[in-house]
Amino acid sequence: MIRLPMRPGVIHKSARDLPVPAHLADWAATCASFSWPQVRGELAGTEAGVLNIAQLAVDRHAQGPHAHRTALRFLGAGAAVSDVDFAELKSLTDRFANALAALGVGAGDRVFVLAGRVPALYVAVLGALKHGSVVTPLFSAFGPEPIATRVNIGGARVLVTTEALYRRKIEKMRASMPSLQQVILIGEGDAETRVPGTLDYAKLMREAPAQPPVIRTGPADMALLHFTSGTTGTPKGAIHVHEAVLTHFATGRYALDLHDDDVFWCTADPGWVTGTSYGIVAPLLHGVTSIVDEAEFDAERWYRILQEQRVSVWYTAPTAIRMLMKAGPELARKYSFPQLRFVASVGEPLNPEAVWWGQEVLGRPIHDNWWQTETGGIMIANTPAMDIKPGSMGKPLPGVQALIVRRPEGGGVQVVDTPDTEGELALRVGWPSMFRGYLGQEERYRKCFAGDLYLTGDLAKRDADGYFWFVGRADDVIKSAGHLIGPFEVESALMEHPAVAEAGVIGKPDPVVGEVVKAFVSLKKGFEPNEALNLELLGHARKRLGAAVAPKEIAFLPTLPRTRSGKIMRRLLKARELGLPEGDTSTLEGGA
Ligand code: ATP
Ligand code: MG
Repeated sequence: MIRLPMRPGVIHKSARDLPVPAHLADWAATCASFSWPQVRGELAGTEAGVLNIAQLAVDRHAQGPHAHRTALRFLGAGAAVSDVDFAELKSLTDRFANALAALGVGAGDRVFVLAGRVPALYVAVLGALKHGSVVTPLFSAFGPEPIATRVNIGGARVLVTTEALYRRKIEKMRASMPSLQQVILIGEGDAETRVPGTLDYAKLMREAPAQPPVIRTGPADMALLHFTSGTTGTPKGAIHVHEAVLTHFATGRYALDLHDDDVFWCTADPGWVTGTSYGIVAPLLHGVTSIVDEAEFDAERWYRILQEQRVSVWYTAPTAIRMLMKAGPELARKYSFPQLRFVASVGEPLNPEAVWWGQEVLGRPIHDNWWQTETGGIMIANTPAMDIKPGSMGKPLPGVQALIVRRPEGGGVQVVDTPDTEGELALRVGWPSMFRGYLGQEERYRKCFAGDLYLTGDLAKRDADGYFWFVGRADDVIKSAGHLIGPFEVESALMEHPAVAEAGVIGKPDPVVGEVVKAFVSLKKGFEPNEALNLELLGHARKRLGAAVAPKEIAFLPTLPRTRSGKIMRRLLKARELGLPEGDTSTLEGGA
């Protein structure tokens, strides 16, 4: 029999024990006094009617005391390290904005970026924002089809990519992308002489005027078009405006607790909204140094980066944490992280096991937070001075109102006031980074709202202390013998078992009870799938969850299907189990 550690339901924290005073020391008082206009006032220096994400993120600091502070530290896939300070970043992004102007790219034209995490990607994103273009970063591991689909949905005019990616993924498809007028290649130079129909990034930058471009965007102008992760179906293109920068700033302060001398590392790729909002914009807004690692996940490399770069605030994802857990604590013990003071996670539910792992292995618990591509920034979070209830997403941030609602059969929406009652998570409209549309899908956008509420499509509950608990995506909830079962609860119980590295749970149609719970499990190093372990896991889950909720079947898989942004794709587990079509797999990790 396995022995489970006895753990309390709360990790108590006190503002006094923190190495630096938390920005959100008093949640209730800060929420009460908070206002978005006040945040706008703080981001001073903006002319009336003018607001631009890149100007606030870069130029504000380039002209102030942080001009020669490292803004972005790029760790190359090998050993190379290159630093760009705020002043340099300003002149590079000024030039890129001017280069776009010289190409005749107009305000609002779409600029897509497809590259690894290299300096030119960051310059292109920020420079294009300065110019007033609409930016879409794509994940560089996408195959040709997903790229072409997104380029066409977004009506991309300019694509910034590398010669290698262009040859592998774009060249043959170019004729099928009629909106694309200019392709700019990042590389060693002279790309345009080798690759017909392209322009050379280095040459454009050399020839572009150096003077600062005139910033013309206003708060309601479209800035970013981000595609969702495609976890539940075909990715949607969420439209964001420049005003979103107010959320990036406020959440950088309250959810990530960024302080002036922090070294911040967001591990998400800019191809996903986290990698843009928090991998680019929020840390720059706060004038802190951000680490950008070009290489893919590697447990040892990541521990080394945390140690060598003296990362103080780390923002990562459950999938990465589970992989570190899978690699075993011995590896972590070879490194030390005395400067690491705050660790946060987003993207999927964070199992309590992972919160505790942080506490035990990194010396800091992991702070879960919740948001979506549609919300543009963090909405609900565990913050430094707040007690953590492992398994909870935390509380709504200042300026955010979250509620639990039900949609009764007859129509309309009812707010659920009773604590611990499941319903759909809704947000009251009014935070600046709310998406302003799904590109080309007006009806779908409209359906996300009821009055002044945005309905998130996630199920959750709120406890008596105001903490929110994720139950599952509306699409993933299992209906079994009259019970509604959230996969997260079952997965978290399985994860408590020392053999389990990851779990994905689905409902399998059953003529008697509607659906039965089936779990797919991948094992940690040193454990083998066999009948005895299967029975042990079934027994463990039954003991933890009761017979009504525990899985009836468990299957072992070497790894679970996940999106390239690291989310378990339960819909694929289900389609495969039932022999149904797999649907959109454009974001499937390891896919085309
Ligand atoms: P698609 O909408 O295309 O199916 P997606 O919803 O996974 O993809 P994202 O916008 O990247 O695309 O992800 C947001 C979703 O991720 C949330 O709606 C929620 O289901 C899940 N999520 C994010 N953070 C958390 C968290 N801390 N706890 C639980 N779920 C989370
Ligand atoms: Mg979604």
